Amino acid sequence: MLSAVQSKVLFFIKIRTNMTYCIDECKKYKASKPLQIGRYAAGQKRCNYCEIFVDYDGITCPCCNRQLRCLPRSRKGKEKYLEQIVR
Ligand SMILES: [Zn+2]
Ligand SMILES: [Zn+2]
Repeated sequence: MLSAVQSKVLFFIKIRTNMTYCIDECKKYKASKPLQIGRYAAGQKRCNYCEIFVDYDGITCPCCNRQLRCLPRSRKGKEKYLEQIVR
């Protein structure tokens, strides 16, 4: 048998994972790889949770509701990004 505290903790874990569950909604917004420029420069955003690039206007993932990344993480990626958008 689980103690009251244990079941409470499990309950919260369940809520949290439910909130950020990938429901495949992101697949509808899946962005194809641009030919000439980087994905971020093309306005695509990445959801780290769904591990997908989406073509979506909002700042949070339409699927898991997590914040979307709209800038490259690495310095090299950022330089490339700036090069591509300043034109
Ligand atoms: Zn998803
Ligand atoms: Zn997502």
